[in-house]
Amino acid sequence: ETTKIGWQFDNSYTRLPESFFSKMNVNPVRAPELIIVNEELAGSLGLDPEALQSEEGIAVLAGNEVPEGGEPIAQAYAGHQFGNFTMLGDGRAILLGEQITSTGDRMDIQLKGAGRTPYSRGGDGRAALGPMLREYIISEAMHALGIPTTRSLAVVYTGETIQRESARPGAILTRVASSHLRVGTFQYARGRDDIENLRVLADYAIDRHYPELKDKDEKYLELFRAVMKRQAALIAKWQLVGFIHGVMNTDNMAISGETIDYGPCAFMDAYDPATVFSSIDVQGRYAYGNQPMIGGWNLARFAETLLPLLGDDQDKAIARIQEELSTYIKLYETNWLEGMRAKLGLFTKEAEDEVLADDLLAIMQDQGADFTNTFRALTYEEADKPDIFGTTAFKEWQARWHDRLKRQEESEEAVSELMRNSNPAVIPRNHKVEEALAAAVEQGDFGPLDKLLTVLEDPYNRTPKQADYIAPAPTDKPYQTYCGT
Ligand code: AMP
Ligand code: MG
Ligand code: MG
Repeated sequence: ETTKIGWQFDNSYTRLPESFFSKMNVNPVRAPELIIVNEELAGSLGLDPEALQSEEGIAVLAGNEVPEGGEPIAQAYAGHQFGNFTMLGDGRAILLGEQITSTGDRMDIQLKGAGRTPYSRGGDGRAALGPMLREYIISEAMHALGIPTTRSLAVVYTGETIQRESARPGAILTRVASSHLRVGTFQYARGRDDIENLRVLADYAIDRHYPELKDKDEKYLELFRAVMKRQAALIAKWQLVGFIHGVMNTDNMAISGETIDYGPCAFMDAYDPATVFSSIDVQGRYAYGNQPMIGGWNLARFAETLLPLLGDDQDKAIARIQEELSTYIKLYETNWLEGMRAKLGLFTKEAEDEVLADDLLAIMQDQGADFTNTFRALTYEEADKPDIFGTTAFKEWQARWHDRLKRQEESEEAVSELMRNSNPAVIPRNHKVEEALAAAVEQGDFGPLDKLLTVLEDPYNRTPKQADYIAPAPTDKPYQTYCGT
């Protein structure tokens, strides 16, 4: 039965063994105020955008009322954080339930910043308005860029302040995900040493994300391969737009292959593989250039959790899954090169394409050239090209590239279209994101936020409204991002 708002829950996660979650009551907040709602996403979930913005709707988005059919839980999970294994769980998130859309998709509706749970440890379970709006902006930008991601349905101000370095307005983000199953969920099950529950979890993940594997002989090995494939494809997409996740802990790697947990993430300006924005990533573990390798490290942790399901002969199981894992980097590189060919307008494959791409990146790094805008300027006719275009190294490279383009039959139009669809004209620039957040949080002025969101909706077209949004961040002070605020 569907409610007036359109909630239609079926809560399969609550039917898992009880060690996987804790039932929750909601933690009401004082005076919820809707800050932003994603009407397009609401509609695609089968929700009535108007009704969602009613008092009743906002009460749900604030965690003040349980929607009809919802069964709030906090999920248990573990994770390697910067390489160290820890028991974690939803410390400030409550899963309301799984919304079944009219097309039969099952989407988690989760309130982030919804108060303390049994997994909160020392934390207050709350979140600040700035970081929740930041997740809203970046996750929706990623979606518009065509990158698999959790999405953002709404942000509400709770009417309460929370204490961080100073007092901040509290907020709740409604996150929508095809699930919140993580590598860390498997680590949790494995860590409890309950093989039957581990099997239930693996079967659940297959059912939910890889139903085509259900009847395969080696379905758990196939599950590993399928997750590996999605992660290789995902991380390649990140690299191709210069997205730096910032905290690729194993609890932040989704089994679905969606980008999840927008904390200290940011987009790179000048091309440099060593780029790190996160204030706590002092070693650069999660630097731009390390992301593909860290993906492999996380997948190795996932592989370890699956071993008990791979048969009695554990030596053989280890050998089999290592053999799978050994294909990961090649898989990633294949995805990346395919994407890079598209960025360069190449339809055909030549052995030298990888060198061609690498050489461009090397010149960009040498020149401190902006990653997005260099590809943008290759894609679009522009009077004002970036400085890199004037260098001898670049001109030599460009001549090679033009020769390469001539060795394929596709028309200039086709090349241009491929490049336009592969090179964003605009990304969420760090200083523009900060500007929008400062106006919203400090002045209560949501104009810059709305404008930024509109600009980011359509990244694969060059439009006049992008004019104030394309310049890289000023380089006078290095940009820093923060986790868990
Ligand atoms: P993250 O770095 O965002 O993946 O978060 C790591 C863990 O810290 C997760 O288990 C979160 O639920 C938890 N956490 C983050 N902030 C808070 C908070 N304010 N209160 C309670 N738990 C939190
Ligand atoms: Mg997390
Ligand atoms: Mg986080």
